[in-house]
Amino acid sequence: MPAAFVPRLVNPPFGDPGLYVALRHQGRAMQFDLGRLDRLPVGALVKLSHVFVSHTHMDHFIGFDHLLRMCLARDIHIELFGPPGIVANVRGKLAGYTWNLIDSYPFQLTVHEVGTERIDAVHLPARTAFSPVPLPSRTFSGVLVDTPEFVVTAAHLDHRIPCLGFALTEKTRLNVRPEALTALGVPAGRWLNQLKEAVRNGSRDEAPIVAEWRANGMAQTARFTVGALRDQLLIETRGQKLAYVVDTLFSRANLERIGALVRGADVFFCESLFLDADRDQASKRYHLTARQAGTLARAAEVTRLETFHFSSRYERDPVPLRAEAQATFRGELPPDEPN
Ligand SMILES: [Zn+2]
Ligand SMILES: [Zn+2]
Repeated sequence: MPAAFVPRLVNPPFGDPGLYVALRHQGRAMQFDLGRLDRLPVGALVKLSHVFVSHTHMDHFIGFDHLLRMCLARDIHIELFGPPGIVANVRGKLAGYTWNLIDSYPFQLTVHEVGTERIDAVHLPARTAFSPVPLPSRTFSGVLVDTPEFVVTAAHLDHRIPCLGFALTEKTRLNVRPEALTALGVPAGRWLNQLKEAVRNGSRDEAPIVAEWRANGMAQTARFTVGALRDQLLIETRGQKLAYVVDTLFSRANLERIGALVRGADVFFCESLFLDADRDQASKRYHLTARQAGTLARAAEVTRLETFHFSSRYERDPVPLRAEAQATFRGELPPDEPN
């Protein structure tokens, strides 16, 4: 079964952070962090429906202008999530330009400011020169986006400012066995989606599913139960999980939050600005070392660790940065301990 999420880092590891994730079955995409984006083709950028910004240090946010420019004249609606202050940051960027002559532009931006307890949101349509329309606030308990196919969760981490870590989790995949459907003798239809939804929502086994179709001009009906159809027709597969953590201190509190967020990820994208030899620099700047990234990945039992966001001081030889992270991840080097 091909993976639902196709992730790729936008820039090489010494470049700005940014992870582009194509959602294969939906023809759209998500972006984690807005470092420089000009390596992404316009065709990829205009597929973005959701953007998640960890924090607004320049290397994580400078690509906002490029994204805006590429989307401005298009019928696109982007939902952008970021840490406390993100609404002021976005509006500050928008205030840097002159916005007349765009009242026919359909582009819309909704910014969600993720506090520790609630999410405040504001709608910014291009056609009114981005004048803000406040939206109702909602409670935040870890979930940013919840759709029938996937969920995006976030945790507030300490980078001497709040910095968001993210996880994108596909919900359990439900596929129909074609030979079982043929044997059942009922044509595929809306009832299959009702069945999948009932299984996802944990409906009772006895709950009814009614299939209706026409054959030879006659209306046909067949009645089943969720439990019987599930066992007979569906194959359940655990969904894919990606996690993204950047710019954070190796503290006990952060470790706990990252552990809960990242647990069991198929791919864990983690910053590692420094080598263990420079760990004092790392903690002074509220960043991780390669060994700390490996420690986090091993503790969270992820399948693959991909480190990036390397300090330019190692540009001549990045090999040890990767080697240290992977050796710690595999357990060949001892894990680090927070102070
Ligand atoms: Zn930063
Ligand atoms: Zn950074």
